[in-house]
Amino acid sequence: MAKIFQNFIDGRYVDTDKHFDKHAPYDNKVIGQIAEAGKAEVDAAVAAAKAALKGPWGKYTIEKRLELLYALADEITRRFEDFAIAEQQDTGIPLHLIRHVAIPRGAANFKVFADVMKTVPTEFFQTTTPDGTGAINYALRRPVGVVGVICPWNMPFLLMTWKVAPALACGNTVVVKPSEETPATATLLGECMNAVGIPAGVYNVVHGFGPNSAGEFVTTHEDVDAITFTGETRTGSAIMKAAAVGARPVSMEMGGKNPGIIFADADLDAVIEGTSRSCFLNTGQVCLGTERLYVERPAFEAVVERLKVAAEKIKMGNPADSTTTMGPLISQEHREKVLSYYRKAVEEGATVVTGGGIPEMPADLASGSWVQPTVWTGLDDSAVIAREEIFGPCVLVMPFDGEDEVIERANNTRYGLSATVWTTNLSRAHRVAAKLESGIVWVNSWFLRDLRTAFGGSKQSGIGREGGVHSLEFYTELKNVCIKL
Ligand code: NAD
Repeated sequence: MAKIFQNFIDGRYVDTDKHFDKHAPYDNKVIGQIAEAGKAEVDAAVAAAKAALKGPWGKYTIEKRLELLYALADEITRRFEDFAIAEQQDTGIPLHLIRHVAIPRGAANFKVFADVMKTVPTEFFQTTTPDGTGAINYALRRPVGVVGVICPWNMPFLLMTWKVAPALACGNTVVVKPSEETPATATLLGECMNAVGIPAGVYNVVHGFGPNSAGEFVTTHEDVDAITFTGETRTGSAIMKAAAVGARPVSMEMGGKNPGIIFADADLDAVIEGTSRSCFLNTGQVCLGTERLYVERPAFEAVVERLKVAAEKIKMGNPADSTTTMGPLISQEHREKVLSYYRKAVEEGATVVTGGGIPEMPADLASGSWVQPTVWTGLDDSAVIAREEIFGPCVLVMPFDGEDEVIERANNTRYGLSATVWTTNLSRAHRVAAKLESGIVWVNSWFLRDLRTAFGGSKQSGIGREGGVHSLEFYTELKNVCIKL
């Protein structure tokens, strides 16, 4: 019998009478059915989350709550292989990458935010008063309530726990809507919640799509007190409209069109290693990845040549095979979108340095959503592939001649998520980093993350910051208490 990915509501798995297929991205075979939550299931999930705030969860001391989150992290680690296989079947990401990044980071999210919560300061002011006796003001941190968590498919477990962990650490309850493409790890996490004794209703999962489905039902629900979202900018705008009804706070982590900037003085070995990862990791389905690459003219030919070699070394294949370095795209639909940009690049006159199409795969994988890693040159910033987020394993490489010029070109976008600068000139690194309009700037590295740091996008890449104490700012409210002495 096909596996059914059920909703997780009030501590129990809940089926529905409306199912849709889940396909494995690497061979397009149906690997299960997803039970789509309707309005009734979303209402039940929100009601359970609301009730849990008033139950034991709402009464626990911080220490007790955090103890449960540490236990949850340990339980994820104990079920490591179950999570790894679930994530691999959902996404097609090579298993060794999932073992290295997604699952350890998922577990770490619960530990890190429990640690942060233990040390988060409050504020205290001594106030003078006209009568001379004074007053003291201090702030209490309270959970915001029921948080709606709307997730994408590209690194599902890591990105979902990035939001659920701080929300729970702060004492909230959650209703998670995973992407319709990746139901598995969010569903599995319910088992871990029950295993460690997190009370029913604290963590709920409802499956389905966006408009007229579970996503919309969650974001428009009047008992959802705050909404945290990761996904496309266009979807984020729709969710902000929904959140405006009831004036609910939002945290938005959205799309990007991230520039990489390579100065000719950079260490080229490090550049190629870091840049090829930033272009091709997870088949280019990383919001922080590089899709526009600016190379100082003296280094241009060498970078293009070496990036081509790096792209052609990538081994696509069965994600369970330890020699596979790149998996497929998430779905046939997403592949069609990426291929439409591959065609557009050629129509606009790009030189295809490598890739540009569908690779030949063995018969058992031929129906998967494969595309070739692709490097283009020959177009400038006005090209469609230089302006729109593609979210595939591809990059347009363009030469530049001066520091001011490249900063202006890098900033000439409606997005502002991340940027990467490669140089051995320390002063220049600081100068350029300060002028780039993005939430994150990496210098001589990429994807190096300290979970305590502020994470988020400028311009249309995001609203608000998560990470470390910044997450706590979103998932809690400060209440000031003023005491007249
Ligand atoms: P998406 O916007 O299509 O979907 C994200 C989620 O929103 C899904 O669960 C979807 O069902 C739901 N949704 C869609 N319409 C909705 C609606 N009207 N109301 C409520 N929910 C709705 O994004 P995706 O294709 O899953 O993910 C890829 C995108 O995510 C890319 O743009 C990428 O850059 C972005 N992303 C950003 C970050 C970041 O940290 N900034 C991280 C990862 C991915």
